[in-house]
Amino acid sequence: MNVESFNLDHRAVAAPYLRLADRKQLPAGDVIVKYDVRFAQPNVDHLEMPVIHSLEHLFAEKSREHSDRVIDFSPMGCQTGFYLILQGEHTVEDVAELVGETLADVADATEVPAANEVQCGWGANHTLEGAQQAALVFLARREEWLTVFADGSTEA
Ligand SMILES: [Zn+2]
Repeated sequence: MNVESFNLDHRAVAAPYLRLADRKQLPAGDVIVKYDVRFAQPNVDHLEMPVIHSLEHLFAEKSREHSDRVIDFSPMGCQTGFYLILQGEHTVEDVAELVGETLADVADATEVPAANEVQCGWGANHTLEGAQQAALVFLARREEWLTVFADGSTEA
């Protein structure tokens, strides 16, 4: 199929993990990478929408304090994770560093940035506490991040 994740067997993965989902070289030679940042086990678990929404806001803002190469951090519709899109080459270890630093900031945050009707499309649909809980659970399992598949491999 055309979409990379439609060719991924979601029964074979073991969340939490970080997985290179796409790498595009642009005509001028610049590279863009897209990482699958999976919080919840597909078809078993998911994050609630307010948790996802607040994680999205917090990560979008805080990650840019650690890197000027973040293009986007956006939720998956299945509510099990996010896509992190970065400018330039990034190893999965680089991404783990950025995700780790950013989620540590999320855990220390005192508010969800831009959670209001001026800066957001559903300013009431947020939970700082829920986002922080999800961030701490993800951080606590850091040694599992580079193992994508249940059989212990990093590639299908
Ligand atoms: Zn929003």
